Amino acid sequence: MSFRGRFAPSPTGRLHLGNARSALLGWLQARAAGGRFLLRVEDLDRSRCRAEYVDELMRDLEWLGLGWDETPLFQSERDGVYRAALEQLEREDLVYPCFCTRAEIARAASAPHGLSDEGPRYPGTCARLSLAERAERSRTRPPAYRFRALPGDVRFEDGLQGPYTQDVAAAVGDFVVRRNDGVASYQLAVVVDDAATGITHVLRGEDLLSSTPRQLQLYTALGLSAPGFFHVPLVLGEDGKRLAKREGAFALAELRERGLAAERVLGLLAAWSGLGDGSPLGLDELVHRFHAERLPRTPVVTQEQTVITALGLP
Ligand code: GLU
Repeated sequence: MSFRGRFAPSPTGRLHLGNARSALLGWLQARAAGGRFLLRVEDLDRSRCRAEYVDELMRDLEWLGLGWDETPLFQSERDGVYRAALEQLEREDLVYPCFCTRAEIARAASAPHGLSDEGPRYPGTCARLSLAERAERSRTRPPAYRFRALPGDVRFEDGLQGPYTQDVAAAVGDFVVRRNDGVASYQLAVVVDDAATGITHVLRGEDLLSSTPRQLQLYTALGLSAPGFFHVPLVLGEDGKRLAKREGAFALAELRERGLAAERVLGLLAAWSGLGDGSPLGLDELVHRFHAERLPRTPVVTQEQTVITALGLP
């Protein structure tokens, strides 16, 4: 099977150095394997995504030399595909409509345990509504759709983090595959799209490690084969906060507009990835140096001043 990787940014803001590092590593992994690298724009959440961020991120990637090999996919154009996947799950009774509001879920969930990225563990309130109850409740509120999480541990071997285990039903509960405004959830869309584009290797930030068991359950339920996963540790500022969360100074577009050489940025990203000492580097050299085994396994902590010095900013 030939290697296919991808970068899947959400255009909800400017790309920053942390995003660029994921893009670079995904690109290098694909190039080092002689494979293909795809771009997918994850613009499902129309209220948060902006067209100018899409243009900008494409220019950023081109500036760094991280081109893509096929026409980019836009999730906002793929609703029909997500609906078909939802219908497939519906036919097998693997999803159900859920009428709960956030506030109801927060009240119903037993407080301290199971706070996932989806919020508190879903207590299953709507899992067994009768048809009459569903009809009654849909008069006041359009439903979201939840996947019936399978009980028991999901285990997989992450290419960087090693073995990872999660009991999805216990940790997250039944999870949303379609929101109540009709939009597919990230979890469903990412699985459908990675499978549709034949992605063999998913390299992305460690913040998505705990989403992977949910995605693996969806792969199985949809009869799709899952890619390999590589979750790269995040880059943190001295305060322990993700670099991703910082505003301004480290937006790629700003560095590009200031006339900085792309090699300086690549050199810094390489240093954060165990591939260099921070001095400027070109992509050819980086492809040559790339080894997934050399990537750091723990978060990289950086200082603002180090970034400024490496980039040669005034
Ligand atoms: N769109 C997601 C993000 O920007 C990444 C999704 C993925 O790589 O699976 O955080």
